[in-house]
Amino acid sequence: MVDPDRLTETFLEMIRRASTELPADVVEALDKGREAERRDSLAEKALVTILDNVDLARQKVAPICQDTGTPVMWIHHPIGVSTRVLEKAMVDAVRQATARQFLRPNAVDTLTGKNTGVGTGRGIPFLHFEEWDSPDIEVRMILKGGGSENVGAQYKLPDNALGAGRDLEGVRRVLLDAVFQAQGKGCSPGTLGVCIGGDRVSGYEESKRQLLRPLPDVNPVPELAELEARVLKEGNELGVGPMGFGGRTTLLGVKVGVLDRLPACYFVTISYLCWAGRRAGVRIGEGGDVTWLS
Ligand code: SF4
Repeated sequence: MVDPDRLTETFLEMIRRASTELPADVVEALDKGREAERRDSLAEKALVTILDNVDLARQKVAPICQDTGTPVMWIHHPIGVSTRVLEKAMVDAVRQATARQFLRPNAVDTLTGKNTGVGTGRGIPFLHFEEWDSPDIEVRMILKGGGSENVGAQYKLPDNALGAGRDLEGVRRVLLDAVFQAQGKGCSPGTLGVCIGGDRVSGYEESKRQLLRPLPDVNPVPELAELEARVLKEGNELGVGPMGFGGRTTLLGVKVGVLDRLPACYFVTISYLCWAGRRAGVRIGEGGDVTWLS
């Protein structure tokens, strides 16, 4: 039986890590981007400021960005562990993280426009549960900033205006269109989480799940690995640059998943994760031992 208080405590620490410590692979990619930019360009200055900010946040245990985003969590649990207990522990952890200013109070009642003040609300945090055979509980999360959420997009192929058919070439075209249309909004450079197929709901879920993959992760499907590498390269050749200032660093990564689809539908769904690509995770063993994941 899991102890709910210990669970809350562990989830709170995971949220603190997500909000204040950018994963090493994201920092590395930002730094590589800085090196690629022209000396004294606005692009280089933007990346230097971002990297300084990331450093300060870690040192001061403060949020990396003022918008601490929506906590989106995928929870794997063994048979017999109550999802209601897990949900309560997570909601309590988000509230405590908000009270301790690891998170901004980020939940607004859509009808009244009033902030709930506690960081949670209907659909916030967004939790996905899945039972598995392991005796462990594993949670992986992202903090999804509002600006980056605003530039998410869903295309329906074929798209004649873009010359995009129902194949990977069509997917490539719409991905580059999305990056170009965003023009750095949603705080580039960032990562594209993509789902090819699915329906309008499952496409967005899967596209967000792709954002859990570390940047160096290579897609096990060769044609998708090729697509990811090509869109990353071509996206960076669009010249949009950090925060839209122009430059060579618009994307840090491209991660593509696939779901099957109805014969009548071919959706390409894109969730964009800004430079503040905040990921964290934890694995809790049967005996309560904790392993941090990134
Ligand atoms: S999009 Fe990301 S970096 Fe930009 S304000 Fe939102 S959380 Fe911060």
